[in-house]
Amino acid sequence: MTAPDATRPVDVLTVVSVAGVTPTVRRVVLSGTAEAVAAAGPTVNLLVPEVGDPAPRWPAVARDGRIVWPQGRHGVSLRSYTARRQDPARGEVEIDFVLHGDGPAATWAAAAVPGALLGVAGAGPLGDRPAGWLLLAGDETALPAIGRILAAAPAGTRGVALVEVAGADEEQALVHPAGVDVRWLHRGASPPGEGTLLVDAVAALERPEGEDLFAWVAAESATVRAVRADLRGRWGLGRAQHHAIGYWRRGRAMAPAG
Ligand SMILES: Cc1cc2nc3c(=O)[nH]c(=O)nc-3n(C[C@H](O)[C@H](O)[C@H](O)COP(=O)(O)OP(=O)(O)OC[C@H]3O[C@@H](n4cnc5c(N)ncnc54)[C@H](O)[C@@H]3O)c2cc1C
Repeated sequence: MTAPDATRPVDVLTVVSVAGVTPTVRRVVLSGTAEAVAAAGPTVNLLVPEVGDPAPRWPAVARDGRIVWPQGRHGVSLRSYTARRQDPARGEVEIDFVLHGDGPAATWAAAAVPGALLGVAGAGPLGDRPAGWLLLAGDETALPAIGRILAAAPAGTRGVALVEVAGADEEQALVHPAGVDVRWLHRGASPPGEGTLLVDAVAALERPEGEDLFAWVAAESATVRAVRADLRGRWGLGRAQHHAIGYWRRGRAMAPAG
């Protein structure tokens, strides 16, 4: 019989290849068992080791999903990401990392080479819901999620996707229903998370008629708060009609380093 406090090891994935998608986005393809790949998304809690650590001291996962960290210094950081593609049959998962400079995850991704290891400590949903009319609003950290939501949307879906990136060279090809208008917003030299581009673009949108609509928003936390307030107030969206979540916080690490 299993003890009530039993833990299991985390899944560990191995980097197969890395590629630059745009000047600031690095795509990392990881391999693992079919089960581990199927369980690594759509949003995924990554355990990021220090660059070059050949034998990371991984935590374990308790039966209730809690992460049980090893005693003492381990150098592993917990961060949230999105699997832009999961292919259990091939045993591959693809993650796009924004190389924003600072931070354990961005630093790890910038240095990642084939053979490097990454742990997985659970996964979650994207938070989207099917609707006839969709508003998607986010920055480059939300682009993998926006790409998945658009690719899965039924052909007849209408709506608007607003994606804030630095410039034209940060745009990515998206598969989307013809009725969804994808608009790229260029922040130019303004640092990410400081301007009001996304907030202003949502504020300029008229609420579509009817109730069959859903808004999905993810970007820097203060930006998301402002967009959420607009959608709840001006558009009168109820809880079931929107999902708005801060994907990163300006000037602050997103999670403690375990
Ligand atoms: C559910 C979910 C899914 C996500 N999916 C993705 C994804 O697929 N790809 C992706 O790149 N990110 C994604 N993110 C965002 C990512 O988790 C954060 O950017 C995280 O802070 C990165 O960790 P880090 O260790 O690199 O930096 P941290 O240690 O968290 O932060 C260090 C510093 O970097 C700054 N910083 C963090 N992110 C950014 C940024 N994007 N631009 C500018 N400065 C930043 C912080 O303000 C802080 O000052 C997701 C977040 C959530 C919650």
